[in-house]
Amino acid sequence: MNQQSANTIRMAAPLAAALFMALAGCAGGPAPDDRLNATLWMQQAVEYKAATDGVYALASIRLTEALADPAWTAVPDVQGGDFGDLPPAIILDADETVLDNSAYQAGLIKTGGVYSSESWNAYANNGSAGAVPGAVAFTQAAAASGVTVFYVTNRDAVTEQGTANNLAALGFPMSDTVDTLMTRNEQPDWTSRKGTRRAAVAKDYRVLLLLGDNFGDFTDDYSGSSGERRAVYEAHSAHWGRDWLMLPNPAYGSWEAAAFGGDYALSEKEKRRRKIDGLTGWTPDE
Ligand SMILES: [Mg+2]
Repeated sequence: MNQQSANTIRMAAPLAAALFMALAGCAGGPAPDDRLNATLWMQQAVEYKAATDGVYALASIRLTEALADPAWTAVPDVQGGDFGDLPPAIILDADETVLDNSAYQAGLIKTGGVYSSESWNAYANNGSAGAVPGAVAFTQAAAASGVTVFYVTNRDAVTEQGTANNLAALGFPMSDTVDTLMTRNEQPDWTSRKGTRRAAVAKDYRVLLLLGDNFGDFTDDYSGSSGERRAVYEAHSAHWGRDWLMLPNPAYGSWEAAAFGGDYALSEKEKRRRKIDGLTGWTPDE
């Protein structure tokens, strides 16, 4: 080995070592996962807890106003006739509105798994979801005021018993006499669009508030493009913050599907590309 070769090796060796360390790190560490920050925030951040506690504090104020105003309804499109004398009710979604499923999401991240109805139904029937901060105290206070609390969820009817056990164990008000847990497919016309279930409640109750984490918890016109969804949102501007109250959920929802045209058959890579393409970006002038 001449001196030049020795020098070359001396210079190259640290570079090779650094490259080896980087590759070893990639191979041994967790893979990048787009779900990480949203799940971390919902599971650990006091910022999330403060947001949901805030929504439920507002819900408590709105409930008092609504009870005092017999003309108040959160579902004017389906609340027909002389509804002022009907008994009061509120409608809440379940997942990420009253039930905290961040452990299911976290399990997928830790194992590199993807959502499937099989694993989801097993999780739901296990009945181990937590409570969204603020939800138990609010619903208990509503029930104590004589308000019937309905849960309109897109959990499938096959998970009804596990979900009911979960809600009851967490302290959410349940009824022995009225079917207040309305699951998807429990009745032939109870599809993922929840309007028929909202109308079924409104037939017998004055609906004071809707609470959800997803546009579809409030309107059946939730599945258009992002622009179409904004137009529907604006058309209902008088409801938001009054009788329609939205919980934060950055982990999943119909907003995400809107970003890739609702085409679930696309590859994960293509969905991701469409999401990035849809962003409005700022770049410095060159
Ligand atoms: Mg939900």
